[in-house]
Amino acid sequence: MTTGRGFTTTLLHADRLAKPEHGALHKPIHTSVTFGYDDVQDLVDIFQNKKKGYAYSRQGNPTATALENKVTVMEHGIGTVSFATGMAAITSTILALIKKGDHIVASSYLFGNTRSVFQTFIELGIDITFVDATSIDNVRNGLKENTRLVFVETVANPATQIADLENIGNLCTDKGILYMVDNTMTTPYLFNPKNVKASLVMNSLTKYVGGHGNALGGSVTDTGLFNWENYPNIFEGFKSQVKPEVFGVTQIRKKGLRDAGGTLSPEAAHYISIGAETLALRMERACTNAMAMATFFDDHPLIKKVHYPGLKSHPQHQLASRLFLKYGALMAIELDDSLDCFEFLNKLKLVVKSSNLGDTRTLAIPVAHTIFNELGRKKRAEMGISESMIRLSIGIEDLEDLMHDFKSALG
Ligand SMILES: *Cc1c(COP(=O)(O)O)cnc(C)c1O
Repeated sequence: MTTGRGFTTTLLHADRLAKPEHGALHKPIHTSVTFGYDDVQDLVDIFQNKKKGYAYSRQGNPTATALENKVTVMEHGIGTVSFATGMAAITSTILALIKKGDHIVASSYLFGNTRSVFQTFIELGIDITFVDATSIDNVRNGLKENTRLVFVETVANPATQIADLENIGNLCTDKGILYMVDNTMTTPYLFNPKNVKASLVMNSLTKYVGGHGNALGGSVTDTGLFNWENYPNIFEGFKSQVKPEVFGVTQIRKKGLRDAGGTLSPEAAHYISIGAETLALRMERACTNAMAMATFFDDHPLIKKVHYPGLKSHPQHQLASRLFLKYGALMAIELDDSLDCFEFLNKLKLVVKSSNLGDTRTLAIPVAHTIFNELGRKKRAEMGISESMIRLSIGIEDLEDLMHDFKSALG
């Protein structure tokens, strides 16, 4: 499906050009759980990885495949496995590729639930070191003899720290370590982690890719850059069946998706596919709105701090300018001590007080009291999360309306 055509053109015409029935423009929603064959040999070949095809929808479904192909193209990868949620993608991939006794270096600035499941991995016997990944030195110092994987987010949520993406990519390439990048915040429209030598790219499709807050989904894409040939944790049974290039995706699909069972439903795959058609348009608009709002907050006397990579004051502004097409649509603000955080939020009439991000609508949430509440004050402080911090996921509303809502709430 690499066409030489543009980002949006490719997405819009992908299903049609793959020739679904009746000249349909969309891949149909295939609800069939199982798939039957006239010749049993075909079924056997699919089980043995000798032939592409479908056996049971937990590990693959034509509607999910159509979406996976689009993600693969957007991320310039060699293959994608979709999951029911972003969390299922992260959990299943790590459980598929990492064993007890292996070591992971992870950014200390992580999505709250990712941090939480990493704590669970530690309890299962996986050694994890959390480092401030905005500096390569910390990542290098965190490596051990048995480090198998480095995990970072592009732009961390909520305080927008940006990992030292290029240098980590070079380090992992030199050492032959898997480099897994959560690209949710930047999306493949603003950034391809393959450009900084990522091995695996994770996306929560729930967020900007689906984009309308109406379907959950996640994906992991193999960029084709990692040499799986000597990776120690590949299941022996796969080695005789498939080429080394696809050891990774095979293991993620079979051990991760099939066994753990966090499967994307065909209905959700369809919704996300439709959403993805306008990813570029929505990101352009949301990023423009976000830049304008960040500038407004930055100049406002009642806002103590604005965390947004588009501002020159952001510690990784230069890096963001070099790597990303735009600065994203997520920011965090800290209110002046004279303002009550809940009062301010309750005065917002248009902005939705809600979890989630990457919706078409602007969403706001006080982070210390909600998504990072379980961590406690000390861990929050380590992660750069202040008690009055409000995360804003800027949507695609008309800017004047957004501006009016925030201006009114600030009094
Ligand atoms: C939301 C999110 C996830 C998890 O995705 P779900 O689809 O909600 O499971 C992972 N990483 C980041 C950065 C996210 O924002």
